[in-house]
Amino acid sequence: MPPSTAAAWRPPGDRWLPDGCREVVGGAAYAGRMTQVRALSPSRAADFMQCPLMYRFRVVDRIPTAPSPAAARGTLVHAVLERLFDLPAEQRTVAAAVALVRPQWARLVEEQAELAGVLDAGSDEVAEVDVEGRWLDGAAALVRQWFDLEDPTRLEPAERELYVETEVDGLVLRGYVDRLDVAADGALRVVDYKTGRSPSELFEGKALFQMKFYALVLWRLRGVVPRMLQLVYLGNGEIVRYVPDEADLLAVERKVKALWAAIERAAVDGDWRPRQSRLCDWCDYKEYCPLWGGTPPPLPDDAVRRALDPAAVGAVDVVSATSD
Ligand code: SF4
Repeated sequence: MPPSTAAAWRPPGDRWLPDGCREVVGGAAYAGRMTQVRALSPSRAADFMQCPLMYRFRVVDRIPTAPSPAAARGTLVHAVLERLFDLPAEQRTVAAAVALVRPQWARLVEEQAELAGVLDAGSDEVAEVDVEGRWLDGAAALVRQWFDLEDPTRLEPAERELYVETEVDGLVLRGYVDRLDVAADGALRVVDYKTGRSPSELFEGKALFQMKFYALVLWRLRGVVPRMLQLVYLGNGEIVRYVPDEADLLAVERKVKALWAAIERAAVDGDWRPRQSRLCDWCDYKEYCPLWGGTPPPLPDDAVRRALDPAAVGAVDVVSATSD
């Protein structure tokens, strides 16, 4: 008996194997977990919403992209803000935070190989003298900016870099919450740091979708709708707050399910359409995009499996998820 999730994404010609393994015609046989688990992270959901072809390039073709200096700086600033709360409240000063910048960068480079080359000369942002020093100064400036927005001596986060995961009708939703504050009455505040500037209303939806996604997961996990969603934009020193309600989160749940159905359809049909927008200017895959004169690579034989692979679709990007 095949798992109940199968019908929605069964490509033509596939068959179920007696042991629950699944074989896709034209692709490699694969087993187990894939047939039982479907997973989606807010980053991949946002990719598909922005442009199905971009989703394909990232998840199916798996075209590698190098982290940008800006994205790496976002990762560094997040690390500093997280570690600062290891100190007793009265020691969480600007100087203490800035003093964490260099050691945290050294740790990140050691732990994440993809960050090692990010400051190589040649990048527009870092091609001048004292590459690392100037870049680290930029990170320190963002850390200082945070103190104008929040006072860490008066905060005692319940969680930092909290991994959250829940299942909604067989679809696993997962992600990392930068900070979770819990008030004395149990109210939850979900906080996300952004090292860029607050977006115009035109682009605000993406950030709010991510926050509502986390709120939905927390609601399902803890049985309480978070009282506040808070986006802290260090790039221009602004805080955006949103008070969600159950109707909001039910709408997000419907949206996530519809998105997953659309991803399955695109995977089975091999139909990954480009969606042009102003965000194309920041697309990592523009050179492969037919709308910009590029040619996509041929679809791999195991394209359906890759498109729905929970390890990729549910993956939370260590760098990009923390930096925009
Ligand atoms: S350049 Fe634009 S249309 Fe093309 S893949 Fe990227 S986001 Fe999609």
